[in-house]
Amino acid sequence: MKFNPKARLDRGRVKDAGQGSGGGGFPGGSGRRIPIPGGAAGGGIGGILIVVLIIVLNQCLANSDTGGGTGGYSTSRLNDSADTGRYESCETGADANESQDCARVAVENSLTDYWDGELGGRFRPEEQLVTFTDSVNTACGGATSAVGPFYCPADESIYLDTDFFDEVLERELGGPDGGFVEYYVLAHEYGHHISNLLGYFGQVRTQQGPQSDAVRLELQADCYAGMWARHATSTKDAEGQALISELTDEDVDLAIEAAEAVGDDRIQQKTQGQVTEESWTHGSAAMRKKWFEIGYTEGSLQACDTFAVGRV
Ligand SMILES: [Zn+2]
Repeated sequence: MKFNPKARLDRGRVKDAGQGSGGGGFPGGSGRRIPIPGGAAGGGIGGILIVVLIIVLNQCLANSDTGGGTGGYSTSRLNDSADTGRYESCETGADANESQDCARVAVENSLTDYWDGELGGRFRPEEQLVTFTDSVNTACGGATSAVGPFYCPADESIYLDTDFFDEVLERELGGPDGGFVEYYVLAHEYGHHISNLLGYFGQVRTQQGPQSDAVRLELQADCYAGMWARHATSTKDAEGQALISELTDEDVDLAIEAAEAVGDDRIQQKTQGQVTEESWTHGSAAMRKKWFEIGYTEGSLQACDTFAVGRV
């Protein structure tokens, strides 16, 4: 992927929270602790990852369900203090071509421009894209790096430990490495924000199993990531410039490979040595590939309505 060197970057929503203040534990405070059943020590970070992802998603759904919708939620109280200035030097597409940090800002900008155009009046950007190390506080509770990247609907923010890609996705799960992999993950998390804006989170009733609502929500995020990838080079910023000047077939193949690597069956096989469909929360490798490709080839919100089809 290449960026238009002259395009201006907007780093207003991208922050780095730095190293968690909780000393590596869960700093979420009373009632927000994320339990890891069965003493996951030794189970490998992949095993922890999947368990915690389920719990975080459930907590977030619970939060958004009991909070009377997102409208009344104060989004500013949790992350105000934290910004290490990691993104201060990110000003142009040229910076994004040189630095992976600035490329993250550029991809966030592209996602925001794309979805603004796609959703029109129904759109608002995510509140924040927060990178962190070790642990972070969110409206969905405290989280550590083991959680993996996630979207918290209660504060409409995306949280990302940038070490995840080397340490978990590549080393633990055998996923691909390389620039575009992270941007697929970012586009997937942004996809959760779009599902949230469109009201799909409220439709989630069943949490586990290949045809569950939780899986449908995940596959929808993959589909939305595909939609953005399809339109990435034709998306224009406020000044009418296309920020992403090149996205190759290899980039798209890497995204699909990454989607497959985080399929529930692949993760279960790696961490438990067996596959149990009933506990799936994100969908199999084949399902994730399929829905990314549906988004990429059909490129419409309607095609990505995973809640409208009989079987995903
Ligand atoms: Zn997801």
